Amino acid sequence: MPLDPLRIAYRPYWWDIDEPLRQIHDDPMPGASDVVIVGGGYTGMAAALVFARAGKSVTIIEKSTPGYGASTRNGGINSASIRPSHGELEKQWGRDFADELYKEASAARIDLADFCETEGIDAMFKLTGWFKGAMSGKHYDYLSREADLLQSRLGIPCRMVSQADQHDEIVSDRFYGGMVEDDIGGFHASKFFAGFLRIITEAGVKVFEKTAVEDIQDHPTAGKMVITDKGSIHADIVVVATNGYTGGAEHKFSRFLRQRTVPIRSSIIVTDDLGVERVKALMPAMRMYGNTAKLTTYFRPTPDGRRILLGARGAEKEPSIKTVNFLRNRLISILPQLADVHIDYCWTGNVAFNRQLIPRIFTHDGIHYSAAYAGSGTVWARWCGKKLAEQVLGQTNAPSVLTGSAPASLPFYNGQPWFLPMVYTWYGLQDHINEWRHG
Ligand SMILES: Cc1cc2nc3c(=O)[nH]c(=O)nc-3n(C[C@H](O)[C@H](O)[C@H](O)COP(=O)(O)OP(=O)(O)OC[C@H]3O[C@@H](n4cnc5c(N)ncnc54)[C@H](O)[C@@H]3O)c2cc1C
Repeated sequence: MPLDPLRIAYRPYWWDIDEPLRQIHDDPMPGASDVVIVGGGYTGMAAALVFARAGKSVTIIEKSTPGYGASTRNGGINSASIRPSHGELEKQWGRDFADELYKEASAARIDLADFCETEGIDAMFKLTGWFKGAMSGKHYDYLSREADLLQSRLGIPCRMVSQADQHDEIVSDRFYGGMVEDDIGGFHASKFFAGFLRIITEAGVKVFEKTAVEDIQDHPTAGKMVITDKGSIHADIVVVATNGYTGGAEHKFSRFLRQRTVPIRSSIIVTDDLGVERVKALMPAMRMYGNTAKLTTYFRPTPDGRRILLGARGAEKEPSIKTVNFLRNRLISILPQLADVHIDYCWTGNVAFNRQLIPRIFTHDGIHYSAAYAGSGTVWARWCGKKLAEQVLGQTNAPSVLTGSAPASLPFYNGQPWFLPMVYTWYGLQDHINEWRHG
């Protein structure tokens, strides 16, 4: 069936909800606040909540509208994935660090589910489990070793599914079997955001939207002056939570983060309403799904079980019919039964990476940062924002293993990722070679 271009909505599927995604107030921006947070996504809100509940006055400054960055554009998969495998981490950083990081990812996932429950956030969260399809026999063997290690050493509930049994997970012949991890789930990205916004509002946090931070300067006596396009505000504590939307050279303050964080475009499509029965017939386990390709694809049923959402890296800045066709072909390559599918939604957004491919919480020149969740920020952003604030307040004696020095800057890089086309070509080539040699 040809696509009807007029039926495609180029905006996130998640935005069509009844709950407000913005704070309605007409307060003037204060001249001073105990804490100023730059960026109104999951990271900023998580830090804000801890500070506010500790009795601090908290102001969030958001350049666009709250959540306009990645936090209402993601796939809603709550994996807290760590880009390097446990084996790769162990080789580079040692076994203790690798164990600690994988344990913290598990704790962060549990904490997110508890948070929704205790705060009464109806984010349609479900602990569905996650199926990671192997893109070759070699990848299947690698995943088997990883699953053994995660299960036996760290108690993370995962197991292998052979190619013969794969149709119990997904009715596709695209994979060579895969790994199921049971402690991973998915939520509705905007319903989570709306619930979170309600909680911080109740805690007294004020969000000033459509206000861009331009610079952050030392105050002559103490603290910092945060200079925005709508005036300046004095703060004792400043958190920068701009992540993949850190922006270009127009904002002086962002230089330090910009040189260390690479924004990578990711794009998503959502099919038309297939109905629960058809989706279930294709995805019997109704899990979150991904694969082992370097240029990975992630997909899932929408929280109501009626549609399929699929996303992948790399896209034009603005979504177009080209983006739709690229992702639709990916979907059909996994589920050829959907050759007649129409696409109702398509959008893009930025995810952030650093050189180490591991999220970092750090302080530089008296400013606190948390960034670079490598495409897995639905869990990490909230966890790291919370940890950052607890650490600044001295509320915890269990600092995150992600806390430390700032990630290294990238050579010849100032925020324009000119090298990405080469990286994509190289990764694409590796994916082809893997399937050709080991498939
Ligand atoms: C298409 C896509 C799919 C994804 N899928 C998943 C997934 O399935 N699972 C998963 O775990 N993660 C996923 N992610 C990643 C996840 O959404 C992010 O890691 C997470 O939302 C980051 O939250 P944040 O608060 O750090 O940043 P953001 O939500 O991006 O917030 C940063 C905010 O800072 C604001 N800002 C920037 N500069 C300024 C300034 N100068 N002044 C004021 N404000 C400023 C921006 O406007 C923006 O709203 C996906 C991301 C995208 C884009």
